[in-house]
Amino acid sequence: MKYLIWILVILLAIWAFKRSRRVKSDAPKEQPPAPATPANMAVCLHCGIHLPQDEAVTGEKGLYCSAEHRAAAQDRNPV
Ligand SMILES: [Zn+2]
Repeated sequence: MKYLIWILVILLAIWAFKRSRRVKSDAPKEQPPAPATPANMAVCLHCGIHLPQDEAVTGEKGLYCSAEHRAAAQDRNPV
């Protein structure tokens, strides 16, 4: 019975060690996609598609997915 308890304690220690290592090795993997996630999403006023804000075309009324949709919405470049 005494050995059974020690085996249990050792198995628990191994499990805890593996778990702590896995958490550390997973952390760098999860970091790169995190900034790429819904950072700044824009919605095209013409077709409603979602796209990254830095890829959106700016109009006077709002953002568009392309210059064609900005023109179709009868909007102009504010600059
Ligand atoms: Zn669009």
